[in-house]
Amino acid sequence: IERTFIAIKPDGTQRGLVANVIERFERKGYKLVGIKAIVPSKALAEEHYADLKGRPFFAGLVSYMTSGSAPVIAMVWEGKDVIRQGRRIIGATNPLEAQPGTIRGDYCISVGRNIIHGSDSFESAEKEIALWFGKSEVF
Ligand code: ATP
Ligand code: MG
Repeated sequence: IERTFIAIKPDGTQRGLVANVIERFERKGYKLVGIKAIVPSKALAEEHYADLKGRPFFAGLVSYMTSGSAPVIAMVWEGKDVIRQGRRIIGATNPLEAQPGTIRGDYCISVGRNIIHGSDSFESAEKEIALWFGKSEVF
């Protein structure tokens, strides 16, 4: 059974969108098998976004994720095609391209404050779940 890593970023937590996000995934038919509130260390955030190292927004992205103004809500979701379906539920990276009906399409206007993260492949999901969760923290 497929699993993906979904994280509500500090802006999503701060804006009170946690229940809304969880409800969308639950209603679609997915199972929540891990969840915690965490302010990631700089090392964790840099490793999570390692693919983007070198991009002009990398430092800002890491400081936004680690600021501590609100925690990241880190989750593991399970079910059929959950990696690709999760990305569809979330919508495009840039809110201008995110369709209404998606999380980013409905709730944000800025690519730098786009509420939520979802793994983009099987390999990313495996890496990210292992990075954010201990084995005993996932059902
Ligand atoms: P995520 O990995 O957070 O789910 P994504 O896979 O849709 O998002 P990525 O290309 O992996 O998009 O970028 C990771 C994150 O970096 C984006 O979600 C966004 O918060 C930030 N980001 C991407 N492009 C920009 C940009 N041009 N300016 C500012 N922030 C950006
Ligand atoms: Mg990504």
